[in-house]
Amino acid sequence: MSAWVTAYIGLGSNLKSPIEQVKTALQALGKLPQTRLLRQSSLYQSAPMGPANQADYINAVAALETRLTADELLSALQGLELLHQRVRQARWGPRTLDLDLLLYADQSINSEHLVVPHPGLGERLFVLQPLFEIAPALVLPGNRAVAELLSKCSESNLQRLD
Ligand code: ATP
Ligand code: MG
Ligand code: MG
Repeated sequence: MSAWVTAYIGLGSNLKSPIEQVKTALQALGKLPQTRLLRQSSLYQSAPMGPANQADYINAVAALETRLTADELLSALQGLELLHQRVRQARWGPRTLDLDLLLYADQSINSEHLVVPHPGLGERLFVLQPLFEIAPALVLPGNRAVAELLSKCSESNLQRLD
């Protein structure tokens, strides 16, 4: 059995009661096998990336402690997306739930179906801000501090919900 590691998950939804989708998904993450929910960020609202004719997104980031391998965790996340009736259509098109594996321990992974750290992580305010909220001192592989990435992020479109 592998050791416990910390993983960070980015959540997003903009269809069918997005706030509820994200809240339910946060709970479900903590119930995955061999996994505990360590921290969860506030919920945030952002304008859509990509196609503009879709609703705003609700975003959050969760920190998990897990004994699943990165591949097992990705499969579990995709299983949860399916449970939320996610239908894959246009790239970055509207979805009930997106669960991205942002970070897995301090590993860099580059396989056909999994890239970690998640490639969008460094530029996306809707990921960096909630990540900073729950892990302000976090440093990514390659010695990139989340605080510094956030301070250099040129996006401004994000609102924290109460
Ligand atoms: P983006 O990845 O730019 O946020 P997206 O989340 O809309 O876009 P998806 O349709 O959710 O993209 O995922 C497309 C594919 O990305 C998945 O089939 C999965 O295999 C692959 N993938 C690669 N790296 C990751 C990762 N770190 N987390 C989640 N999926 C990943
Ligand atoms: Mg995504
Ligand atoms: Mg995704």
